[in-house]
Amino acid sequence: MAECGFFGGLTKRSMGNLKDLQVRKRVFSEIPGLSGKIPRVLSQVHGTKIFEAEKGGEKILEGDGWVCRQEGIIPIVLVADCVPLFIWSRKNPVFGVFHAGWRGMAKSFAYIAATEIQRVFNVKAGELLASAGPHIGSCCCEVGPEIKEFFPSEDFIEDKKGLRLDLNLEAKNQLLRAGLSENSIYLSSECTVCSPGYFSNRQGDSERMAAFITLKEGPLCPK
Ligand SMILES: [Zn+2]
Repeated sequence: MAECGFFGGLTKRSMGNLKDLQVRKRVFSEIPGLSGKIPRVLSQVHGTKIFEAEKGGEKILEGDGWVCRQEGIIPIVLVADCVPLFIWSRKNPVFGVFHAGWRGMAKSFAYIAATEIQRVFNVKAGELLASAGPHIGSCCCEVGPEIKEFFPSEDFIEDKKGLRLDLNLEAKNQLLRAGLSENSIYLSSECTVCSPGYFSNRQGDSERMAAFITLKEGPLCPK
């Protein structure tokens, strides 16, 4: 099968509050190559439920991740500091996007996401690529000691600035456990709290950015 192209990313603060339906419709209709595709969101609960995004389903489901293999749909999760996790295949037109903050990571959501996409579409871990997009970095992810029980000690940095959690390291280790190889995992070092241009829940923003992934239309994408 020919390799298929994907188009994904994270909207920025300047694009507005993507939690808002009208803003979402406008932004996605203005991005070249995406107009006409249907954006799909979830009612996110910091859980581990994953749905297959398909045409026709209009109901807003309670969950934190999408897997998909259809053209014409833009699966979306909304984030502001939580990890937007993208997973896609280098061999098959299958892909997913997941919302994983510390609560989700504590429930092994990155591992669950990477194993679920293999199970649902019968694809191998070796063909999968993953990317953790901009999120609260270990520079800013201050946590209380009560969080320690949920993660291995290597995930924490403790110095005079306090106790902080490294979500990138945890995401990487969960993806490795799910069978992905180290060179198939991309980790963004952009921190949504201290880098400009992002909404940050920690900074008091109630607005959200959209993490999205979809199939590029064209001859490389088998129907
Ligand atoms: Zn930071």
